[in-house]
Amino acid sequence: MTSDKLLDGKVALITGAGRGIGRDYALAFANAGAKVLVNDLGGTTGGEGADRVPAMEVAKEIEDGGGKAVVNFDSVVDFSAAQGMVDQCKEELGGLDVVVNNAGILRDVIFHKMTEEDWDSVIAVHLKGSFNVSRAAATVFREQQSGAFIHMTSTSGLIGNFGQANYAAAKLGIAGLSKSIALDMSRFNVRSNCISPFAWSRMIGTIPIGDEAERERVEKLKTMTTAKIAPVAVALCSDRSKVTGQIFGVRNNEIFLMGQSRPVRSVHRGEGWTPEMVLEHAIPAMEANFFQLDRSADVFSWDPI
Ligand code: NAD
Repeated sequence: MTSDKLLDGKVALITGAGRGIGRDYALAFANAGAKVLVNDLGGTTGGEGADRVPAMEVAKEIEDGGGKAVVNFDSVVDFSAAQGMVDQCKEELGGLDVVVNNAGILRDVIFHKMTEEDWDSVIAVHLKGSFNVSRAAATVFREQQSGAFIHMTSTSGLIGNFGQANYAAAKLGIAGLSKSIALDMSRFNVRSNCISPFAWSRMIGTIPIGDEAERERVEKLKTMTTAKIAPVAVALCSDRSKVTGQIFGVRNNEIFLMGQSRPVRSVHRGEGWTPEMVLEHAIPAMEANFFQLDRSADVFSWDPI
């Protein structure tokens, strides 16, 4: 079947590939014919500690299935370590064609209690980490005039959520990073897209269960398996895709094309605006189109299909 070998001969660098969505990315990319660098620091959801076992198990599973995989335990936070991941792909797997920036941590806390460390650590792993690996790969992609990036964003940033100012800022920043890479590198035939997943992983497995309604909600969330995200990533990274600069939501059997910010309404006064006129004219004229303080769950208000 041709669809099984969409990535034949390709090399994929996947960060945070020891667990969750990243693990399923690694297995699916290998299944589609790619050789895979399985990067994972092996920390806790909050980013502490290091455990090499998850990445080694994923690589072993790929090799046991007849694929080719190598492991890397470095942190995406370290710029030179990111260069090392790219070098390792070239040296041990013969090149680099795909980067999936998937590594992530959470430090959820209500904004007025968020510490500098909560902010810095989440921005470092998600936003800086995505930059680090992308920048290292960009040199290779530019030279070979081809390459594909997948970056993981989130509806926590694209829409909103409580207690995730650090994560939301990082994830919306990643959407900007992806679009910028798509613009800057299209001249080199390089594509860059975002995936905004919904999947049951340890990252959302920390949701506290208070009552029966919450238990039912969590049971529904568990139906959104991490393996359902990978087909979209594999498709976007294959040579059959020309797609770039897009953001796709993926939830169980649903795929969404997410919006990107555009003006929705404008008002104009030939003589210019005073603050009073803004209050009396501009705001009433635009208010019908104001956005509610929606959270992701308000917008995705129906159960996963
Ligand atoms: P997960 O915690 O199961 O997996 C994340 C992996 O990243 C872990 O194996 C962890 O060890 C690794 N990691 C953390 N910091 C690292 C670092 N500095 N360097 C290298 N590896 C590191 O989480 P997941 O739910 O599979 O999330 C994967 C990605 O998808 C994340 O970017 C997350 O923000 C995003 N995401 C997930 C959901 C969801 O519903 N699960 C929703 C929106 C976005």
